[in-house]
Amino acid sequence: MPLSLQTKSRNSKIGPRVSCTTRSGGVDMYGTCPSTCPLKPPDKGTHKLDSAYARKLSKAVPKGGLAWAYTHFDWRYWFKDFGFNTEGRTVMNYSASHINKAINAMDKGIPTVFNLPSEGTPSGHVKLGDHYFIWCPAETHEDKNCSNCNPNGRPICAQPDRKVGVLFKNKKWKKNPCYAANGFVVREWKKTMQILSNLTDGTRLLHWIKSLPYGSWVRHHIAGDMGKDY
Ligand code: SF4
Repeated sequence: MPLSLQTKSRNSKIGPRVSCTTRSGGVDMYGTCPSTCPLKPPDKGTHKLDSAYARKLSKAVPKGGLAWAYTHFDWRYWFKDFGFNTEGRTVMNYSASHINKAINAMDKGIPTVFNLPSEGTPSGHVKLGDHYFIWCPAETHEDKNCSNCNPNGRPICAQPDRKVGVLFKNKKWKKNPCYAANGFVVREWKKTMQILSNLTDGTRLLHWIKSLPYGSWVRHHIAGDMGKDY
């Protein structure tokens, strides 16, 4: 599966401090996304999680830095098995497709994010079940992004033990509800499909991580997920 590695990204949502990756299938940009994700076209995606990649992804943290990602794969397939969310490893957020799934994951102590419709600029917090969810600061303040959403340190989504869920605004795109299939992200995602390598994504990823300066921050998968292409 192709993987693109962006040491310096111009993505304003992540800000200047954060490097990022994009992952796609070889012939289908949704090839690493779970077939159960409701945001992509219904006939796209994969049933399989790429275990070899997930193992390396959990270790793909720059020395002295941090890394985080989001997945639409159900947490039962990855939460206990690959070392995510433990000391010094990648923080994996579960991106829930339904409100009940979001509440259930929070009940289990899993860092969870959820897309919620909102008119205008959202503010404050929302209680779902017994849990508080806060709006991603990048949704509520123009000058906020992943590089500065927590003035005291780790970006909110890079906190494995946080007690609150994170909400993103459910944007109404004209054709395709997947945010990554729109705007400038889709261009990078389509370009990613053309990357050829004899190395596996996991091996390329770990080589790149080692090349980053001490203390770097990485947000894995601006688009794509940890699935195995057909
Ligand atoms: S809440 Fe998460 S997505 Fe939003 S700015 Fe912070 S780290 Fe980025």
